[in-house]
Amino acid sequence: MAVSKPTILVTGGAGYIGSHTVLALEAAGYPVVILDSLEYGHRDLVEQHLKAKLIVGSTCDRPLLDHIFATHPIGTVMHFAAYIAVGESVQAPGKYYHNNVVGTLTLLEAMLAANVKRFVFSSTCAIYGPPKTVPIPEDHPANPISPYATSKLMVEYMLKDFDAAHDLKAVAFRYFNAAGADPQGRLGEDHQPETHLIPLVLLTALGKRPSISIFGTDYDTPDGTCIRDYIHVADLAAAHVQGVDYLLQGGDSTFINLGNGNGFSVREVIETARQVTGCDIPAVECDRRPGDPPRLVGSGDRARQILGWQPQYPDLTPIMAHAWHWHQRRHR
Ligand code: UDP
Repeated sequence: MAVSKPTILVTGGAGYIGSHTVLALEAAGYPVVILDSLEYGHRDLVEQHLKAKLIVGSTCDRPLLDHIFATHPIGTVMHFAAYIAVGESVQAPGKYYHNNVVGTLTLLEAMLAANVKRFVFSSTCAIYGPPKTVPIPEDHPANPISPYATSKLMVEYMLKDFDAAHDLKAVAFRYFNAAGADPQGRLGEDHQPETHLIPLVLLTALGKRPSISIFGTDYDTPDGTCIRDYIHVADLAAAHVQGVDYLLQGGDSTFINLGNGNGFSVREVIETARQVTGCDIPAVECDRRPGDPPRLVGSGDRARQILGWQPQYPDLTPIMAHAWHWHQRRHR
């Protein structure tokens, strides 16, 4: 007889990476409950494509959390809910520390009260700051340069202490640049406002924007533009399912990069978009965006070693093709 899988509480499950992970969890047979404030998440996508129950609310709401744990057999929590805009975090740090740090602390305390001790956390490569070595290994020193990145690092520190004191086991995934969309076209990226390169390039291809700005052409890189490690959101989602499996098998707390080890420049991204879409995408060279490191590429060795993770889409073309398919449907 098949052993039934524990229910996973996914905070932020109506958001970009969260919703793709719920899709992957459900395909792997995990029942899911989503907690999402719907400030940025999409109810329509949850209702159309996911089986999970959607509870609308905040991770700062302790009575709501207690009620969720009392009324559902939650075995593990995956925590995606967070504010993610780096620039806004510099302008409004309190907003970020409140939601991202206080909200996570409230969630962890509610978990302990309910005796739930497995946690998968969305962290970020931004905790490393400007890298000293590339590809960046997990033991690279942390040097966050925005309140957003600091808020994520503060949670990683909390997780270390909660493990030592309470035996709460956690996997923190440090993402490089999540991109792409569900290969079957059910889900994709839809941020309001949009700040990320690939969706902005594709919105330009669709004629929703007049041009794409290239932020800085004088970096010390082969074509002068910034290099990033774009990772397909379906590969990210698969790693999260493997992270849950790892914890359920008794795995110890750890932190793991999710990157492909491949870097693509802004000009290469725009050129790939031109090839995939067949559209002439006007690009305008602009000044650097403050705070952008020239090159961020992550080593995925630990994810392969610990989880057996194998990205299916390490190249930029399928990432772009899936994102294009999604954008055409979402914005027609
Ligand atoms: N970028 C750009 N034009 C844009 C948006 C982004 O040139 O309109 C650049 C940005 O400077 C960075 C890269 O594209 O070098 C990826 O930026 P994104 O905001 O997608 O992700 P980040 O690396 O900041 O997390």
